Amino acid sequence: MTSRTDALPKLDMYIGGEWVAPASGEYFETIDPFTAKPWALVARGDASDADRAVRAAHKAFTEGPWRRMHPSKRGRIIHRFGELIEQHADELAEIEVRDNGRLLAEMRHQIRYIPNWYYYYAGLADKIEGAVHPCDKPALSFSRHEPLGVCVGIVPWNAPLFLLSLKLPAALAAGNTVVLKPAEHTSATALKLMELVEKAGFPPGVINVVTGYGREVGEPLVTHPLTRHVGFTGSTATGAHLYSLAAKDVKRVSLELGGKSPNIVFDDADLDNAVRGVVGGIFGAVGQTCIAGSRLLVQRKVHDAFVEKLAAFSKSARIGDPRNAATQIGPIANRMQYDKVLGYIDIARQEGAELVLGGKRPDEAECAEGFFVEPTIFTGVNNDMRIAREEVFGPVLSTIVFDEMEEAVAIANDTEFGLAAGLWTANMRRALRMSELLEAGSVWVNTYRDVSYTTPFGGYKKSGIGRENGVEGIREYLQTKAVWLSTA
Ligand code: ADP
Repeated sequence: MTSRTDALPKLDMYIGGEWVAPASGEYFETIDPFTAKPWALVARGDASDADRAVRAAHKAFTEGPWRRMHPSKRGRIIHRFGELIEQHADELAEIEVRDNGRLLAEMRHQIRYIPNWYYYYAGLADKIEGAVHPCDKPALSFSRHEPLGVCVGIVPWNAPLFLLSLKLPAALAAGNTVVLKPAEHTSATALKLMELVEKAGFPPGVINVVTGYGREVGEPLVTHPLTRHVGFTGSTATGAHLYSLAAKDVKRVSLELGGKSPNIVFDDADLDNAVRGVVGGIFGAVGQTCIAGSRLLVQRKVHDAFVEKLAAFSKSARIGDPRNAATQIGPIANRMQYDKVLGYIDIARQEGAELVLGGKRPDEAECAEGFFVEPTIFTGVNNDMRIAREEVFGPVLSTIVFDEMEEAVAIANDTEFGLAAGLWTANMRRALRMSELLEAGSVWVNTYRDVSYTTPFGGYKKSGIGRENGVEGIREYLQTKAVWLSTA
C-alpha cells in the first residue's frame, strides 16, 4: 500500500546540468497554504550536496566556456532564458501559488514582468567597460572588471522567482556561475526554471539549484571555501548570521533584509489615492514583503477621517482562494508565519494598541483550512511598542499620529531598519526635503511598492548591504583588476 506521501511528485536538485537525488535520500513535504496539505516532495539537501553544487559551479567557472565567452554571446543566452521564462510565465505562476499562496493574478503579473531583468542584464553584459588611468609613473595603467567566481543566491519564500531574478541575471552577465537555494517552503519554481536552462544554451554547471533547510544546506554553501559571493534576501537575523560566516573568509555579500517601513500621510494628500497606496503597501501579498508599509504615520488633522476610509476600504477586501480572480487577500504562506502573525496581534493588544479592524482568522467557510488572517489595523500605536519596532511580515498595520513634518521624520527614522518609506502629499518641496531626510533605500512619493530592473534597490541600516537592479546591481558581482605596463 502506498501512503499519501509516496504518491506525491518528487522534486530533485539540479547540479552540473543534471537532476540529482539528495545524498541523504530524504525528501520533505511542501505544503499548499490554501489547503494546508502537501502537494510535492522536495529533496532534503545537506552539506555534501552543497559541496557538489559549489564544485560543479566552480568547475564551470574555471574550466567551462562561460567566463571566457564573449559577453555579447553570454548576453544572448541570458536573453533567450528571459524569453523562455516569458513563454512559461503562467505555468510558473501556478506552481508558485501552490507553494506560497500568493494571488494567482498577482503572480502572473509579477512573473510576466520578471523577464525584464534577464533582458536588461543581457544587454548590460557587453557594456561593462574598464578604464585607462592618467598615470604618474612611466607606465600604462588600466583596469578591467572581472567576475568573482561562484556566487550563492539564497532567497526566501514570499516571492521566490522574483527575488532570485534580482540576483541571477546580474551575476551571470558579469561572467559568474551560480548556486541558488530557494526557501524550504517554496522550492518548486526555482526547480521548474532549471528545465529551461539547457534550452537557453547555458553550459552545464553555470546555474545550479540545491534545496533543503537553511542550516543544513544553505550554511554549507555560504561557508564553502570556493564560494566567492553570497547574495541573500531574507530576515535581518539570518542575514547578519550569514554576514558573520562570510566575513571569516572575507567573502563579498549583498544582503536585502527586513524592514519596518513608514507610510506617511500629510493632511494635503489626495486621501483616496493614499488609502489605495497604504492598503497595497501593507495588505498586498498579505503583508509578506520586506517593503511592507507596516507603520502608518498620519497627520493629526486627517487622522480620524483617513483611518475611517482605510478601514472601510480594507473591510471590503475579498479574502479566500488565491486562485480565484476575485480574491484580493490570500492565505499566509506557511503555518509558522501564521502563528507568528497572530502572536504579534496579541502583543499589540497587550501593549494597549486599539484594534479597529481584523485581528483574527476570517469566518468565511472558504478560509476554513488555510492559514488566513484578516487585514488588521491598529491605532493609538506609539513608536516604542514592539508592534511598531519589529517586523511582523503579515497583514498588520500600526497607525501613529503626528503633528509636524519634523516629528514625522523623527518617528520614521526611529527604527533599526531602513528599507523603504512612502510619502503622501501634494507639496513637492516638502516631498523633496523629506526624501533627503528619510533614512531609507527607497522613498516613494504618492506611490508605494514600485520596483524596477532599472532602479537600484536595497537597504539603509539593518535593512541590508549592497544594491540590486540597475547598473549598480551588476557591480556587486564584479571585481576590479589594475594592470601596469611599464613604458620605461
Ligand atoms: P524567513 O524569511 O522565513 O524569516 P530566513 O530569512 O531565515 O527566513 O530565510 C530566508 C532564506 O534563508 C531561506 O532560503 C532559508 O532556508 C535560508 N536560511 C535560513 N537560515 C539559514 C542559515 N543558517 N544558513 C543559510 N541559509 C539560511
